[in-house]
Amino acid sequence: MRGPGGFVGKSIVYFAGARSLYRTHSLEKKIERLFNALGLRGSIEGGDRVAIKVHWGSEGNTRYLRPIYVKKIVELVKKAGGTPFIFESVGHGVSGPRATMRYLEVGFSHGYTPEFIGAPVVLGGGFRGNEVVEVDLPEGIQLKRVSLVREAVEADKLLVLTHFKGHSEAGFGGSVKNIGVGCTGKKGKTLVHFETLPYVDKELCDGCKLCLDTCDVKAISMMGETAYIDHGKCWGCWKCVAKCREHFSGDQSKTAIKATLLDSRSHQTRVAEHVAGLIKVLGRERVYAFNFLLDVTPLCDCPSFSDVPIVPDLGILASRDIVAVDQASLDLVNRAPGIPGSMIEEVDALEPGSEKFRFLYPYTDGGIHQLVAAEKLGVGSRDYELVVLEGDDVDILFNRLLRKIEALMKLKRKIPEKIFRGEREIRDLLSQERFSDAKERILEVMDELEIK
Ligand code: SF4
Ligand code: SF4
Repeated sequence: MRGPGGFVGKSIVYFAGARSLYRTHSLEKKIERLFNALGLRGSIEGGDRVAIKVHWGSEGNTRYLRPIYVKKIVELVKKAGGTPFIFESVGHGVSGPRATMRYLEVGFSHGYTPEFIGAPVVLGGGFRGNEVVEVDLPEGIQLKRVSLVREAVEADKLLVLTHFKGHSEAGFGGSVKNIGVGCTGKKGKTLVHFETLPYVDKELCDGCKLCLDTCDVKAISMMGETAYIDHGKCWGCWKCVAKCREHFSGDQSKTAIKATLLDSRSHQTRVAEHVAGLIKVLGRERVYAFNFLLDVTPLCDCPSFSDVPIVPDLGILASRDIVAVDQASLDLVNRAPGIPGSMIEEVDALEPGSEKFRFLYPYTDGGIHQLVAAEKLGVGSRDYELVVLEGDDVDILFNRLLRKIEALMKLKRKIPEKIFRGEREIRDLLSQERFSDAKERILEVMDELEIK
């Protein structure tokens, strides 16, 4: 069946659970298996520039995506013959070269150094966030043109690594948001948060002209007694806003240059439009998404603090479809029980099945609109099939077997020699990653021991 985005059938989303009880089931090993399941090992060609998008968290934030996972992906990309690099972009609130340098330093202090990661670490869109590619989007719902950082648009492959969590403006932050905001420059970031680029309120402008020289692209001129901003030239750096605020002695209510915040639905629509722009220039086949459902915090990684997670660690999802991977992540979080003592208890949504982000941020509709809009724009499909990685249940079974053997030994009950032989055999099978064989043998041994 053809879906709204032109998709046929369901999109595949691979899932690896968060639990690890054996060496071959470490999260690093699981990342490798997800990487292979997506076909990345075979599809990266020698010399391919592989852009890896991350969010390394603001200063003070502590539950951002751990760099050890990124390091593993970098290793795998290199092994496949690609040339990886890591990028993050500057926010609309981060202005001026000093602030952007500081943001790069924060990334380093959070472990995102080239030495540790094993690849160059850069700021997408440059230090000023204006090195972007404009993409026409006549099919856009609100925006007919979007801008995206060069690093994403000019890559041979784009791997989006996302810490899945709540978001006060978008409901939740997944791969769609990591691209729709994270792969935009300053202009794009302004347009996904505000109705327009900064404009001059004629009623408040007293014609002091202070802002005129502030603008690097000469987008501001006088029109009669008041200033005027040419949106054809403006790239949304916000320097003039700061200057005008200075003129009014920091009193925000009086600032003549301003922009009006978008409501959540429009924010989500525009985020989806930027993703659609990226897919348009890059092509769906060059984008791969990994969502980490580990430390699922109620807020995103932009605040300078991190609250406790709202659900237990669930695992890692990977897909070629950005919309499907977010829909699957959302469903898993909703199905999970909430963690007592976290923000989810405060909104009475601890029950498995409760729509967590809808309870946390009712005005966002739980963030579903970003996926509906992305699907409508042909980015991907909300209809998916979850494929659990083979072997994910084996470590649980094996652990139960070992515990039973230990318990029997404590009781000094005779352990048949063949069970020890069986254990060695299972360890051997697991080290070779022959999970289905191991599972079969574990079940046989458990049967012999009458383990239910
Ligand atoms: S700094 Fe503000 S008040 Fe002065 S001209 Fe510019 S917009 Fe008008
Ligand atoms: S008009 Fe203001 S926001 Fe736009 S580019 Fe100039 S200084 Fe930056």
